[in-house]
Amino acid sequence: MSVKYQRILLKLSGEQLAGKFDSGIDPELAAWLAKEVKKVQNAGTEVIIMVGGGNFVRGAQTAGHGIKRVTADHMGMLATMVNALALTDIFENQKVKTRCLSNIFAEQVAEPFVHRLANKHLEKGRVVIVGGGTGRPYMTTDTGAVVLALELDCQVVLKATKVDGVYDKDPAKHQDAKKHDALSFQHAVENAHIKVMDKAALGLAMEQSMPIVVFDALKENNIQDVIVGKLVGTTIS
Ligand code: UDP
Repeated sequence: MSVKYQRILLKLSGEQLAGKFDSGIDPELAAWLAKEVKKVQNAGTEVIIMVGGGNFVRGAQTAGHGIKRVTADHMGMLATMVNALALTDIFENQKVKTRCLSNIFAEQVAEPFVHRLANKHLEKGRVVIVGGGTGRPYMTTDTGAVVLALELDCQVVLKATKVDGVYDKDPAKHQDAKKHDALSFQHAVENAHIKVMDKAALGLAMEQSMPIVVFDALKENNIQDVIVGKLVGTTIS
């Protein structure tokens, strides 16, 4: 199988990891995801995963009642670590060689994110799962995903969402909603209705010409279809 991308960044939100549950992690779904990622690896593509933490804590929603925004964001970053650790074990349990790297100081629980170390793991055929977002408050893991993709020379960011791409209106509310196969960064940044990814992340991707594919990762073979260049989801470039 010839692949279009040799190295990809997959962004998984906390909400997706919760699967059938309202919060926390759905281990069956995580195991299924490990198998989907394995297919991509077998095809010859290196995979870096940035995980969100919204299944436990979102800083903007948690702040208040005495909890400062910065503290709430710290809690959110810790939530991403919870997901990264769980996902790493579940992937390894599925025989997918995986390493968890942390963008916050957490030496007892994970290796620190070091550029060279991440590259070494990838070259050895390991999946690299990064927790801790960017390590700074007032940011999201979407922005962290774009930064990480740039830092590790990924050719694309795969942004996994509930729906299978970007629509002209909410497909859950409008039956006649139409999916865009492709969008310009300009359009995605300027259109206030496009909320699939935060604008800071889109702005950085635009500035650095890092393409983003918005797609449904929970459909069988979808990740593999993206990496071989099939038309899946919406490409923002
Ligand atoms: N967060 C942060 N800095 C980062 C990434 C994340 O402060 O670089 C915090 C922020 O509070 C955010 C929470 O971690 O709400 C969880 O991340 P995110 O909302 O991106 O998770 P997702 O929605 O993808 O599950």
